[in-house]
Amino acid sequence: MPIVSRNPSTGEIIKQFESYSDECVDKLLLKSYSAHKKLKKISFNKRAVCMMAVARILNTESEKLGKILTQEMGKTHTSAIAEIKKSALGAEHYAITAEDYMADDIIKTNALKSYRSYQPIGPILAVMPWNYPVWQVIRFAAPAIMAGNTVLLKHASNVTQCALYLEDIFKRAGFHDGVFQTLIIPSSKVERVLRNENVRAATLTGSEIAGSSVAAICGQEIKPTVLELGGSDAFIVMPSADLEKAAAVGTTARTQNNGQSCIAAKRFIVHAEVYEVFKEKLVRNFAALKIGDPMKPETDIGPLVNQSSLNEVEDQVKNALDCGAELLCGGKAIKGQGYFFQPGIIEKIPKSARIYSEEIFAPVAGLYEVNSIEEAIELANDSPFGLGSSIWTSELGEQKQAIDDIEAGATFVNAMTSSDPRLPFGGIKRSGYGRELAAEGLRAFCNVKTVSIHE
Ligand code: NAP
Repeated sequence: MPIVSRNPSTGEIIKQFESYSDECVDKLLLKSYSAHKKLKKISFNKRAVCMMAVARILNTESEKLGKILTQEMGKTHTSAIAEIKKSALGAEHYAITAEDYMADDIIKTNALKSYRSYQPIGPILAVMPWNYPVWQVIRFAAPAIMAGNTVLLKHASNVTQCALYLEDIFKRAGFHDGVFQTLIIPSSKVERVLRNENVRAATLTGSEIAGSSVAAICGQEIKPTVLELGGSDAFIVMPSADLEKAAAVGTTARTQNNGQSCIAAKRFIVHAEVYEVFKEKLVRNFAALKIGDPMKPETDIGPLVNQSSLNEVEDQVKNALDCGAELLCGGKAIKGQGYFFQPGIIEKIPKSARIYSEEIFAPVAGLYEVNSIEEAIELANDSPFGLGSSIWTSELGEQKQAIDDIEAGATFVNAMTSSDPRLPFGGIKRSGYGRELAAEGLRAFCNVKTVSIHE
């Protein structure tokens, strides 16, 4: 079966790709191992020159590459360009910091000298999702390559053009053959790659089902993994919050990337004292969003990625309403070509509704009313996920309670959850384990070697 790129704005097939044969994949894995052995001998300075070139190409070609993102997965062209520019910053960050992140860590013992030495481990398979097709890849690949590891990218099948473009950027930036390679394979071939001796570790960003499958195989093979999975982030609003700002940021936090972000605010947990006012503002903001052609600069919301995604959110909304929840606005598929969906807000969601505990990967906000900070945190934690979280309050005590007690990989105060190359990123519970970005992201795939030198 060919691997297909389809434009979600029209439903039309843009391009089809033949999947690589097993023989071809095996050759690429071997090449990746040889490239790693060469890369680890190359100085940080030389690696940094190439990584800076990656950043430069991303910046210069953001318009052109941005069009491919919009065509393949439907995000607005404006947000595609922003994603590519952010990816350039990520590449620059590791070009500048990798040597420091990997510096020996001296530890005083009885030895003449003892220290931690961070060493690369070899080729790493990166199984990546379509929702941020450039950023997700760069945030893994830049630290991995700066550390001396090589990258084997198995990108989501619907963004193969992006995957090939990225491979080409790393080549043009001066990295030698085999440092960054795209494998055009379906997910059914991932196991075969993971079991190959040349592949030393894996990282997966995507759904729980894919994550647990990759982790189970790597468990049998005793290979390390990092998993970045789904989320159902809480966005808590307390009475002292700036409600206008919280509603504006909350709207972006829920609807950016057409509502398809792991760290989107998905559950709005609002104190009863300000519930009605906040609700009114959020509904007003959602109703003002412009849905349409993602290439147009005035568009806020483009299509969902595919028909099954559209079907899934329709089912989730219907199920919630059947369980007694109430729809405040939108929440319906738009008739016509493409996979467009009107952003919606749902309140009075009972525990029995699927969306109480499932992730909604589309622009639908769940609104919950609570009477105290304790109740807000309890509700925030009543989820299988633990990715990001956000609290809006000027009360320092409430801020501290949220930071201490919300079960999540991140808590943002008076801001939406976002990723930043300088800060670690990742989840707990069913949102995954391990960290990307910052020093943690680079060291995740390093051998922390103990060195102890005696007379
Ligand atoms: P997905 O279906 O799991 O796909 C992600 C990647 O995994 C794709 O490359 C896919 O390949 C591959 N894959 C699927 N099933 C697999 C299997 N059984 N074994 C090995 N690989 C497999 O996820 P998605 O629908 O693209 O992405 C949406 C999910 O990703 C959401 O839950 C979202 O929250 C999560 N996400 C998390 C983060 C984070 O940082 N925590 C960031 C972004 C997205 P094919 O395309 O060929 O099937």
